[in-house]
Amino acid sequence: MQNRSEHAPTLAFVVPCYNEEAVIEELLKRLQAVSEDLLKSGAIRQPATLVLVDDGSIDRTWKLIHAASKSGLVRGVRLSRNHGHQAALLAGLMAAKEEVLISLDADLQDDPSAIPKMLQAYALGADIVFGVRASRKSDTVFKRRSARLYYKLLENMGVDVVPDHADYRLMSRKSVETLREYGEVNLFLRGIIKNLGYQVEIVEYDRVERFAGDSKYPLTKMLRLAIEGVTSFSTRPLRYVTWIGLIVALISFLLGCYSIVIWWQGGTVPGWTSIVVPTFMLGSFQLIALGIVGEYLGKIYLETKRRPQFIIDEIAEPETPN
Ligand code: UDP
Ligand code: MG
Repeated sequence: MQNRSEHAPTLAFVVPCYNEEAVIEELLKRLQAVSEDLLKSGAIRQPATLVLVDDGSIDRTWKLIHAASKSGLVRGVRLSRNHGHQAALLAGLMAAKEEVLISLDADLQDDPSAIPKMLQAYALGADIVFGVRASRKSDTVFKRRSARLYYKLLENMGVDVVPDHADYRLMSRKSVETLREYGEVNLFLRGIIKNLGYQVEIVEYDRVERFAGDSKYPLTKMLRLAIEGVTSFSTRPLRYVTWIGLIVALISFLLGCYSIVIWWQGGTVPGWTSIVVPTFMLGSFQLIALGIVGEYLGKIYLETKRRPQFIIDEIAEPETPN
């Protein structure tokens, strides 16, 4: 494990913004204050850069970002249209050049007071620090319940994520460069990043109310992200088809035997057995065949993602004498 405490890093905040004109000004003020404190305490070596990504806003968001970029500490990135939160976040992470990147929401729901703790974890060697909500007090009952159900579902599908972590996190340069190698279009960043396998740390924070404006995540977008989480990481649903096929095959074999016995005993009308037995058999063969196709489809799907086959964390080599 590396200890980086002797060498303060450079830092960038990465913030996706979609129709956030009501919060930009406060966001800049808050993050600049955090940056000054960090600089004073020696946690970073230069004032932090703010990478603000405008995700195709139709209000004054880009105007505000553009104006702020003149000050020298803001790098604005404008996407051609609304690409969605995950894509905007990725664009920001790829556009930043600093050694440590912290992503957070524009609405200041991700409490900036957790940032020094994240940097401490980085100094002690963590490459990825997840901000995890200490409680879900500020959520509606519906959101709380559906979130719990969703994390359970992900777990059952074999998707490895940190529960109650949105996209408030610190990433080291090394982990961002590895993320760059993931070429997938279906983006579920919190899954991919947990999957990188580097040293991970968790910092708890209290999620506060949105500073201003309305949520940009209506139920439809939330559901889309939820489905993305399962389908971009797991081919288990396809495998379940094979299992269902095998179970149905077993049941139909038993039912087939039963209907032949009934026919033998003469308890059926003519034609019944010859219709029922092939129907059962064909149904189960079809399901099994679908399952087999699913197995290959799953393989093709994983191949097309072109994820790195392995990720090296460190290399230890003998020192070469000069
Ligand atoms: N966002 C975005 N593109 C979108 C939707 C949202 O960049 O299509 C940004 C938004 O500006 C905010 C973050 O994603 O910075 C989280 O959105 P929001 O706070 O509305 O979600 P909630 O906290 O309500 O789940
Ligand atoms: Mg929010």
